[in-house]
Amino acid sequence: MANLDTSPTPPPRSVEIKNLHKSFGSNHVLRGIDFSVEQGEVVCVIGPSGSGKSTLLRCVNLLEKPQQGQVFVRGEDITDPDCHLDAARQQIGMVFQQFNLFPHLSALANCTIAQRTVLKRSPVEADRVARANLERVGLSDKIDAFPAQLSGGQQQRVAIARALSMDPALMLFDEPTSALDPELVGDVLTVMRKLALEGMTMLVVTHEMAFAREVADRVAFMDGGVIVEQGPPADVIGDPREERTRTFLRRVL
Ligand code: ADP
Ligand code: MG
Repeated sequence: MANLDTSPTPPPRSVEIKNLHKSFGSNHVLRGIDFSVEQGEVVCVIGPSGSGKSTLLRCVNLLEKPQQGQVFVRGEDITDPDCHLDAARQQIGMVFQQFNLFPHLSALANCTIAQRTVLKRSPVEADRVARANLERVGLSDKIDAFPAQLSGGQQQRVAIARALSMDPALMLFDEPTSALDPELVGDVLTVMRKLALEGMTMLVVTHEMAFAREVADRVAFMDGGVIVEQGPPADVIGDPREERTRTFLRRVL
């Protein structure tokens, strides 16, 4: 008999994490994380140094292998040994505190190289996509510059354009402005705000509380390897429920 159920299947979550545990030796860093990011959502993760924020992000593209738990990226269990990890990772763009650009390549070439080697795009197509993304981050006039000729903020924007050039479905940011001189932070946050408005799914570890408050759909506060509380920024940053969150915010605000 025909299946008469015509209700649409909801789209898979961008990221879904179930009971995630990660240890380094005897250091039990992630202690049972249940967490998800919907498509199109912007989630900021805040919390003290050492609480496991970077480790959590690195588990989302399996740069770290968890001992227990599951990570689904758009419905696919990337912790399953049978998962085609390279294909899953291609959906994820990552931007680090340190920009990690190739120093011997121009801004443009930094944005074309993985398109050509990983995605097998033609030079003409890779060039077109790279130029469009450098324009998106406000660097059309710097396409031929080498990293050493760019400010930290410009280098970080090249790193964002490089990630975007791979057409990711999800962008991970790990303290993207923490290594920048204060006067350069704004330009990078402006680019991230624009991406959020364009509907990019973003998981952002940050200490920029004003950014989290303004841009995030949801804020998660991490401490001691667990998510202590999460919710709209007005609640978690503006009126936190948990004493641990209040203590942290008193120190950073
Ligand atoms: P955060 O990003 O919140 O500052 P991290 O996830 O970087 O926290 O680190 C959490 C804990 O895990 C720390 O105790 C850190 O020393 C440890 N840790 C992180 N990465 C590694 C690693 N590759 N090897 C050993 N210990 C690590
Ligand atoms: Mg970190």
